[in-house]
Amino acid sequence: MNYKHDTHQITSLVFCTILLLVLNFSHAHAHSICIIGSGIGGASVAHFLRRYSSASQQNLIGKISIFERNGIVGGRMATVTISGETFEAGASILHPKNYHAVNYTEYLNLQAKKPSHSDDSLSLGIWDGHKFVYKTMNSNSKLPIVQRLVSFANSVMMFLRYGVSLFRMSSFVEETVNNFLRYYEDFESRPVFESVEEMLRWAGLFNLTTQTLGEKLVEVGLSPLLIQELSTVITRINYGQSVNISGLAGAVSLAGSGGGLWAVEGGNWQMAAGLINRSDVALHLHEEIETVSYLGDVYELNSTKGKSYNCQVTVVATPLDEINIRFNPVFSIPQRKLQHTHATFVRGLLNPAYFGMNKVSDIPELVGTTESIDVTFTSISILKKHENDMTYKIFSREPMSDALLDDIFSVRKETIKINWGAYPHYHAPEKYAPFILDGNHLYYVNAFENAASTMETSAVAAENIARLILSRLSAPVDFSLPKLKSSNSDLSKMHMDL
Ligand SMILES: Cc1cc2nc3c(=O)[nH]c(=O)nc-3n(C[C@H](O)[C@H](O)[C@H](O)COP(=O)(O)OP(=O)(O)OC[C@H]3O[C@@H](n4cnc5c(N)ncnc54)[C@H](O)[C@@H]3O)c2cc1C
Repeated sequence: MNYKHDTHQITSLVFCTILLLVLNFSHAHAHSICIIGSGIGGASVAHFLRRYSSASQQNLIGKISIFERNGIVGGRMATVTISGETFEAGASILHPKNYHAVNYTEYLNLQAKKPSHSDDSLSLGIWDGHKFVYKTMNSNSKLPIVQRLVSFANSVMMFLRYGVSLFRMSSFVEETVNNFLRYYEDFESRPVFESVEEMLRWAGLFNLTTQTLGEKLVEVGLSPLLIQELSTVITRINYGQSVNISGLAGAVSLAGSGGGLWAVEGGNWQMAAGLINRSDVALHLHEEIETVSYLGDVYELNSTKGKSYNCQVTVVATPLDEINIRFNPVFSIPQRKLQHTHATFVRGLLNPAYFGMNKVSDIPELVGTTESIDVTFTSISILKKHENDMTYKIFSREPMSDALLDDIFSVRKETIKINWGAYPHYHAPEKYAPFILDGNHLYYVNAFENAASTMETSAVAAENIARLILSRLSAPVDFSLPKLKSSNSDLSKMHMDL
């Protein structure tokens, strides 16, 4: 008998058994995740799941699959190409304090730029369907000193029209933004939220969703003129709706008209693409999920390709309002209508006569509108000035007919029309779908869109969903390891000078 040989065999056997046990153990704890939607919400869930689970040293997250019905990622972050040039077709501007977006841009080595149509020095006109009720001066000069003087004169004019209400509006917005910054706090002070209501209450934002923006602005002392004109122009541009939208969506929309706005050079969609690329994800493009069935321990997802996938966790990262995923068992969520925004891109020249002007250069660079049945569009902005014409973006609630476009434009070389199911139609008081749709592991990122719909709010909701998944898969998870850049830490480093 070869004793030495036998001992070696036994040792190897024990080692293999332990290894198998360890592998089996870790495999049993590595949960498969299916994410429906590759917009900023779905991409952010994948990113934060990987980031937080690797830092927690627990092998909780196994394969992550993202399903996208389109052939490209990004969802409502999309571009349009007109006359060979590319522009944002959907989500275009980011706020300087959108810290997840700031972090993504840095992490993915993307470049930030100032979007042309959000330039503070742009001339503004408020159109009521017949005339400009308010119009700032155009600076057609290229001289910086002249531009500065015109900009100063415009500020004085604006103050003369709207008075101290302007300051009241900006302090209301600042206060709301400061409350929102609590969502970047460290994990020690920031709980994991199981519902949208809880998340909003914790940041002191819930009450804003129980009243309309108009009511809130009256409460903070704004003049009726400012509410009817400037505030209305802004909510119409950003959400295609009046000041009857809920107060939080309204405040977010007002914040999106301030200074320091930015965008990702080459397209905001790159944030979603980069996060997906770096999160070890199996990406299924052109694959629409049709059914999600809970089988007891896993969800079975069936796609339009006739394929079937099993996942222990499923995340819905798209609004459920206009899509037709069948869930088994069924659940009910509050009814929500989406606001459709028609984005029309035109290379050409506006018709000055339509606006009662003599020259194209007299028409303000940004034309906003009041709530009136005589108004045929929501806004017109210049995306780019070319040598002899311009590229414009028109937003409207209804599709722009060619006949109407021919009235508004004297030259129209190319036109592209996009119909977006853009964001929720906001109502106060808002009602929220749950983050956890079925009490098990079916999660819904876009429940948060009733609070406000932006790239950043999707990322904030997605980050919470990632924490929620991890905390529900295994308690306790040590969330304290990965330090997010937070509002408690050095904010100045996160601020981008653009
Ligand atoms: C015209 C417009 C202008 C906007 N302007 C701004 C702005 O300036 N700044 C800002 O911050 N926000 C803006 N927004 C809002 C912003 O775009 C959204 O809030 C944000 O992009 C939502 O991201 P999301 O990932 O939650 O959803 P989405 O981007 O909608 O992603 C959902 C994805 O899911 C996919 N999908 C849906 N159903 C299925 C299925 N069954 N199977 C597989 N895939 C599916 C969709 O194709 C889509 O790609 C704007 C939106 C629009 C439309």
